[in-house]
Amino acid sequence: MDCVFCKIANKEIKSNVVFESEKLLAFLDVNPQAPVHILIVPKKHIAGLNEIETADRELLCDIQLAARDIAKKQNISKTGYRLVANSGPDAGQAVGHLHYHLLGGRKFGWPPG
Ligand code: AMP
Ligand code: ZN
Repeated sequence: MDCVFCKIANKEIKSNVVFESEKLLAFLDVNPQAPVHILIVPKKHIAGLNEIETADRELLCDIQLAARDIAKKQNISKTGYRLVANSGPDAGQAVGHLHYHLLGGRKFGWPPG
């Protein structure tokens, strides 16, 4: 499948990996929107939030636990961070492989733009 994040997950495309487990990979976003901008993805292809299944619940839980650990390592646990998954055109989802943005290191506005 021609999916950029599948290619990153199986190391066909280079990325700056910050965390890896059997089922997950986290790497620096190539176009960072904050001092810390990391993408956390499942290694298996899931097109997006609409495509998650009940059987993925452990994987989805592991993503949040990974986000917690990465935030701590990046020293943004106390200052604050966002974990964001864009779904569909209104949210600006550009890559059709489930991914969570971990953003921190600056103040964010609310509501989001
Ligand atoms: P989204 O708009 O939520 O689909 O986010 C896609 C994100 O993937 C954007 O922030 C891009 O900068 C990022 N991105 C696209 N290609 C790569 C790549 N090869 N390596 C790292 N990040 C990427
Ligand atoms: Zn994929």
